[in-house]
Amino acid sequence: MYKIQSAKLMKEVMGNYFLGMKDTSKKIAWCTSVGPAELLRSFGFEVHFPENHGALLGATRTAGDLIPESAKLGYSNDICSYLTADIGSYLKNETPLREHYGLNGAPKPDIIVYNTNQCREVQDWFTYFAKELNCPIFGITPPRHLDEITQEAIDDVATQFKNMIPLCEEVSGIKFDLGRFAETLKLSKEATDLWKKVLWTASASPAPLSFFDATIHMGPIVVLRGTQIAKDYYTILLKELEQNVANKIGFLEKESCRLYWDGMPIWGKLRSLSDLFIQNNAAVVASTYCNSWVFDAFDENHPFESSAKAYTEIFINRSEEAKQRLLSDLVRLFRIDGVIFHDAKTCANNSNSRFGMPQRITETLGIPTLVIEGDLCDLRFYSEGQSITKIETFIEQIEQAKVAC
Ligand code: SF4
Repeated sequence: MYKIQSAKLMKEVMGNYFLGMKDTSKKIAWCTSVGPAELLRSFGFEVHFPENHGALLGATRTAGDLIPESAKLGYSNDICSYLTADIGSYLKNETPLREHYGLNGAPKPDIIVYNTNQCREVQDWFTYFAKELNCPIFGITPPRHLDEITQEAIDDVATQFKNMIPLCEEVSGIKFDLGRFAETLKLSKEATDLWKKVLWTASASPAPLSFFDATIHMGPIVVLRGTQIAKDYYTILLKELEQNVANKIGFLEKESCRLYWDGMPIWGKLRSLSDLFIQNNAAVVASTYCNSWVFDAFDENHPFESSAKAYTEIFINRSEEAKQRLLSDLVRLFRIDGVIFHDAKTCANNSNSRFGMPQRITETLGIPTLVIEGDLCDLRFYSEGQSITKIETFIEQIEQAKVAC
């Protein structure tokens, strides 16, 4: 059975990251997953990502017990289930971090920073904790849903990043150092370039990495970017995957079709979905989600402007037309036979099937698309039986169409 050997190291890396949060001598910053982590790290903050905790609550299927807790405070079941699960975890004082890493909960923040480049939900989520924990908070609010990224937008966000500095200095007790910021950004750039190459190995056939593998191996690029640790990890992972490509070893010996996953993972169903596609010889080789941590624009010579650009041009912050262009490019690059859109009930921001995208992809690229309803954490919105039938029928149709060609 195909196994990525680096997974063992990845578990160690992630374990050490969480254990590092026990070090009370270090100041802690909370940051959104595509927030200015490098700038925070340059002040010596350890960075905790509540969305990562939300994903963990989803993957361990503990979210289901926690979401109703936040409903008692008036948070609707229809809003981001990362938010409702994470706040529920805090209210119920229950977290898998305890069992896995001996942490009593998410580490207490000294500063909270969010960037609404992905959604407005993070603003409400982080503000709740800032009030609850009496913690200083800083929000970055870039222009949204951009088609092209203008210089004006970059300047706006770069200024907002700079405006963060006095608060970071005050909380950390460390003076801003442009050289340290540039160095951190350089490390982040090197790690993100490696991560991109890791993802791009799946353009080979047989592919050495599936979307489901990538959701696991993306841990360090989310929580440790800007560190040597992330760079070292992806150097090792890339070497292994490139060797597998050279030896024609992939997670499927024979790919009957190659698929693209758009939208959020269904964290509590990763294993069963991965098995389902493998049993049907369908290779899910690319995704919008895992590409979200590819930041081509990072440039340590222009740390503010380049990180402002990188964090503003992300897929989720683009116009419908720009999203279609980006998705189409990936479909061509990875030689995709069909696209599966995950319509996540509690995340409209990362569900791209609601404004005709599947139909337009089929019209322009001539490939079939499928929409499955589900959610990132709240499994009440996912019908397993119905989804399996839809997915198997979809794969069958693609295979039949290939035979007919
Ligand atoms: S993008 Fe979606 S899943 Fe992520 S924080 Fe925002 S609403 Fe939640």
